[in-house]
Amino acid sequence: MIDFLDQLKKVGFDYATYSGISISPFELGEVIVKEKTLKEAEKKVTEIDKHFAQGFYNEAEKKQKKIAVWEECKENLQNQLVTNLEKKNTTSFYHIWDSGARASGESLTQIFAMRGNTTNYLGEVIETPITSSLWEGLSPFEFFISVYGAVKGMIDIALKTAEAGYLTRRLVEASQSLSIISLDCGTDNNILAEENDMPLAKRVYGRYLAQDISNKKEGVILTRNTLLLEKEVKIIQKNKISAVQVFSPLTCQLVEGICQKCYGLDLSKPGEAIALGTAVGIIAAQSLGEPGTQLTMRTFHSGGITGDEDITQGLPKVKQIFDNVKPDKQEKSILAKTSGEIISVEEKIIRQKDDKGQEIIYPLGKKKKVRVNQGDIVKKGERITSGKIDLEEYLEIMGRDICQNYIKEEVRKVYDNQGIDIDEKHIEIFARQMLSKVEIISGGDSEYLAGDMVNYQQLEKVNQALVVNKKKPASFKNIISSLKDLASYPDSFLAGISFQNTLKSLVNYSLYQPVDYLRGSKENLIAGQLIPVGSGFKERERFLKNK
Ligand SMILES: [Zn+2]
Repeated sequence: MIDFLDQLKKVGFDYATYSGISISPFELGEVIVKEKTLKEAEKKVTEIDKHFAQGFYNEAEKKQKKIAVWEECKENLQNQLVTNLEKKNTTSFYHIWDSGARASGESLTQIFAMRGNTTNYLGEVIETPITSSLWEGLSPFEFFISVYGAVKGMIDIALKTAEAGYLTRRLVEASQSLSIISLDCGTDNNILAEENDMPLAKRVYGRYLAQDISNKKEGVILTRNTLLLEKEVKIIQKNKISAVQVFSPLTCQLVEGICQKCYGLDLSKPGEAIALGTAVGIIAAQSLGEPGTQLTMRTFHSGGITGDEDITQGLPKVKQIFDNVKPDKQEKSILAKTSGEIISVEEKIIRQKDDKGQEIIYPLGKKKKVRVNQGDIVKKGERITSGKIDLEEYLEIMGRDICQNYIKEEVRKVYDNQGIDIDEKHIEIFARQMLSKVEIISGGDSEYLAGDMVNYQQLEKVNQALVVNKKKPASFKNIISSLKDLASYPDSFLAGISFQNTLKSLVNYSLYQPVDYLRGSKENLIAGQLIPVGSGFKERERFLKNK
């Protein structure tokens, strides 16, 4: 085998030297009619200036029109270039371009035709383009204006790398203790996977089915507890089923981990269910953190006709959700507290009538744009005004399940918009973590005291036992834990104090939680032990059994 691999390597290296691609700019010289194309564009620009002077356009319109002219000019040149390149299909340039590995039409255009429009340091396109190509060389003025965008780009990349790196750290620290610790938690809880902008097939692939699926002709076609792989997903598609109940990490009942059935497929091993001891928390963190640098850093503040909507996207949006950033009063969107008709939209307040006929008054802030009209029937949780949603308020109005789903959808959309494919399970793990702690309001017949922060799954267990014994269960309030909260106050004090604010957390832990059970990976690593995942999981099971 080793001999074979050695020879394979030799063959590879040998033939790599045969390809011998070398490039020459002369291969593509004289392939475009540049001067004429530029002159035409210049003529159009002079025309625009004339109209502007006559008052037909305002400043913004003039700029927009000029930019469009140069865009068109560049596109024209690019088309000429690409057409000619296809004719010269024996050149190295053709091979590089055609392979799709390097050099898009855009990069060739920048080299041979024109660099085109550039941006200033604010990222706005400026109306003077760079008409020279890199092959011709830039004029001092062109070089000067091209530098703004380049500098901004480099600074952005440096900042983004740091931001994404720190996000990854917080993600890992917030979920490092989650691994697969049992085959089946025995829960009946599940989620309803529905088709929206994401196809159902993709949504359910790799999950265990939580219901029987049947059709009229054949009866039951898929049974509960089936792992949905290609074959099974095809059956669902063929029967035109639009919603399916599946198990999910969101609804797993285990307190310290997740079970195989709720997690489903191991995404790195086609066809295999997740193995016991897999560190699914860390895998989820890395899956969301690694593409972080590919997300944009820009926050769009679109003004003018479209309104004062602030559209946060990319990395800032992911941070906003995972860090549970509270929008300040001015930016906050007002949410309908209940379903019902809007009875009036006034200057300072909006009145709504609930289904019992009771009137609800929403005071309006200064900068808010109203999204409803008199007579509209709004649903509970719907946004009445523009602005950002306060997660905590949304949770209070809509409850756990819908809020978790909101977190999942919002984060997924961010990655989706940038063309990054993320399995929803990874986001679900974080939605689970963010709602993992609840605050006790009244202890009932449990041992909890009002104000205690308790693990949700743990509390559910305690409450179920109380109900069975005809005792009073504890009442609680859902709260949102940000990544920072989760990383700062995990169950392990070793993991907690080694994150940030060591002194503060040492004091806290010594008062409230002075024992570390060494359950997560991080605390075991710190203690110099085998971590309880992978092969270490089996070791730990053996150890616990013998004890
Ligand atoms: Zn489970």
